Amino acid sequence: MRMSRMLMPTLKEVPSDAEITSHQLMLRAGMIRKMASGIYNQLPMGIRVFRKVEDIIREEMNAKGAQEISCALLVPAELWQESGRWDVMGPEMFRLKDRNGRDYCLGPTHEETFTHIVRNEITSYKQLPLNLYQIETKFRDERRPRFGVMRTRNFTMKDAYSFDADQEGLDKSYDDMFDAYTRIFARCELDNSPVQADSGAMGGSASAEFMVKSEVGEDEIVFCSGCDYAANIEKATSVNHESSTEEMKEMSEIETPNVHTIEELQEFFKMDAGQFAKTLIYYADGKTVAVVVRGDRDVNETKVANAIGGAVEFELASEDTIKAVTGAEVGFAGPIGIKADYLFIDQEVVDQRNVIVGANKTGYHIQNANFGRDFEGQVGDFRNVQEGDKCPKCGQPLEIMRGVEVGHIFKLGTKYSESMGATFLDQNGKSQPIIMGCYGIGVERTVAAVIEQHHDENGIIWPLAIAPYHVVVVPVNVKKEEHLENAEKIYKELEAAGVEVLLDDRNERAGFKFKDSDLLGIPMRITVGKDIVDGKVEFKLRKEADKEIISVDEVLDRVK
Ligand code: ATP
Ligand code: MG
Ligand code: MG
Ligand code: MG
Repeated sequence: MRMSRMLMPTLKEVPSDAEITSHQLMLRAGMIRKMASGIYNQLPMGIRVFRKVEDIIREEMNAKGAQEISCALLVPAELWQESGRWDVMGPEMFRLKDRNGRDYCLGPTHEETFTHIVRNEITSYKQLPLNLYQIETKFRDERRPRFGVMRTRNFTMKDAYSFDADQEGLDKSYDDMFDAYTRIFARCELDNSPVQADSGAMGGSASAEFMVKSEVGEDEIVFCSGCDYAANIEKATSVNHESSTEEMKEMSEIETPNVHTIEELQEFFKMDAGQFAKTLIYYADGKTVAVVVRGDRDVNETKVANAIGGAVEFELASEDTIKAVTGAEVGFAGPIGIKADYLFIDQEVVDQRNVIVGANKTGYHIQNANFGRDFEGQVGDFRNVQEGDKCPKCGQPLEIMRGVEVGHIFKLGTKYSESMGATFLDQNGKSQPIIMGCYGIGVERTVAAVIEQHHDENGIIWPLAIAPYHVVVVPVNVKKEEHLENAEKIYKELEAAGVEVLLDDRNERAGFKFKDSDLLGIPMRITVGKDIVDGKVEFKLRKEADKEIISVDEVLDRVK
C-alpha cells in the first residue's frame, strides 16, 4: 500500500482524553477514532491488526475442531425469557422494540442463541461433542466505558460454546479451549497468566480468566510468590482469610439473626422472580439494617455476577449499628451512592434509600464493587485476601496485582440446556440435558493489551504475527528520482513475494516519515537514500536501535 493514498491520520500530540498508553497509541497511530462514549470506528491501520488477531483465533479454534458460525446480533426477547435472563439482565443489555412492539436485545453474549441453534439440530449422543463459535460484535451498555477499546459498548468477541454428552466430555472441551487460548495469546506475544475465576452462582465448576498483568487492569489478581497459585481476588482465599465468596454466603446465613426468603424480598421490592439470585437481609433491634443482594453470575457483567453484594440501608440505621451488626470495622464505607444497575435494585429503591457497600464481617466483604468508582476508602479495605497473606496451597506470601481480563473460559453445565430444553437421547435412549461450556476472547481488548506490553517512547512495536504491515519502504526524498524509483522497485518486489509492505511515498522529510513508521510499529524498515548509488539500502528493525547497510539484492531474504 502507498502511504500517500492511505487513510492513516497519525497524530504527533498525545490526545488529552486518552489516559493509558495503548489508547494514546491507537489514536496516534490512526487505528481507531471515537464516535461516542464507548463507541469506536476502526480505520485501515486498526482493522488490519484486529483481523490478524481474529485469524489467529480462528486458526486455533479450528485446530481444536471448533466450527465457526455467525449468529444474528439482533436477538428476540423470547429466547432470553426462556432462559430467565430477560428480567435479570440489568441496564448493561441494549433492548429495543420492532415496529410491532416486540422486544429484542442486541446480543451482549450468546448462550441463548447457541443453545437455541443446538436444541433444534441435535437429537442424539452420536452428534456430540460439538463446539461452535463466532467472531462477532457484542453490545454492552457498560456502566463506565473507558481506556479506548479496552472497555467499549460495541466490541468484537470470539465466543465459543461447547456441547457434550457427559462431564468427561466437558472436561476435555474445557481443556482444549484452555490450550487454544494459551496458543492464541502466545502467538500474539501477549504475556498472560491463567487464573482461577469465581464460578459464581452456578456451582463449583471450573472457570479461568486469562489475565495480563498491568497497572491499567480493572481486575485484581492474587499470585503466590512460592507456587503457581493464581486467582482472581473474587475467588482467592488465603490461610489468613479462608473465605471464598461461597463461604461468605454460608457464614452470613449462620451468623445472621434473621434471613428473609427471596419471595419475601420480591414482595418487598416488587420485583420479578429471578431478580434476586441470593439475597440476605440483616436485622438489628428489630430494624432492618442491611440487605446483601447477590446476583446470578450470568445475570449482568460477570464482575457483578461473581460477587456483587450491596448492603442497602433501611430506616437510617446509624453507622454504629451497621458496624455492630455486620462486624465490619476498618474502612467500612458508610452510606454512599451506588448505581442501581450494579445491584439489581430498582432505581426507585436506590433513590429513596442510602446504599452502602461493605462487609457483613471483617474479611468477608462485598467484593468487586469498583473501588474509587463506587465508593471511597483505603485500597484494600474491602479485600478478602490481603497482600502478604499466606497462600492456601503452600503457605508462602501472596501478592496482589492488577490485571486485564483478555479471555474467560467457563464450565456452564446444564443451566441453559435445562431451561431451554436442549436435550439429547443417550445410549440408553434416555433424554438428557446437553452439558455446556462457554469461552470468550475480546479481540480489541487483546490488541490494546499487546500494545501495553509492546511499545517504547516512540510508538508501538508490533509482534510480527499481528503487525498491520511487515515492512515499510521509505524513500528519503521522493523528489530524487533514484530514491523513489528504487524504493518503488523494492516495494513491488516485496509485494510480489507476498510480503505485506508499505511504501512511504509521501512528500515529507525523512525524519517525519521515520517518526511515523516508529509510531505505527512496523517491524522492519528499508530506507532508500544516498547509498542507493552503490546498490545499498538501510535496514532497521523497529525493536532494535541499530541500523545496517545491506545490498538491495539481500532485501527479500532479510524480510522473509
Ligand atoms: P470485564 O470483567 O472486563 O467486564 P467480562 O468478564 O464482563 O469482562 P466476559 O463476559 O467474560 O467479559 O467476556 C469475554 C471477554 O470479552 C472478556 O474476557 C474481554 O476480553 C472481552 N470484553 C468483555 N467486555 C468488554 C468490553 N466492554 N469491551 C471490550 N472487550 C470486552
Ligand atoms: Mg463485564
Ligand atoms: Mg470479568
Ligand atoms: Mg469474564
